[in-house]
Amino acid sequence: MGVPKKHKTRSGRDQRRSHLALKKTSFAKCKNCGGPTMPHLPCKNCGYLNGRKVTK
Ligand SMILES: [Zn+2]
Repeated sequence: MGVPKKHKTRSGRDQRRSHLALKKTSFAKCKNCGGPTMPHLPCKNCGYLNGRKVTK
């Protein structure tokens, strides 16, 4: 197993972690009710997907 030979500075550690943040979840706009909805999934508000009602 690799053992760290040198102590990483606070700034070096934080610069490495600058790429680790989670991306914001993307929203699609519902074509039926206009509310925010997940892409590829029926709208939680009205149950519509691609202009068709797919849930009860
Ligand atoms: Zn909707």
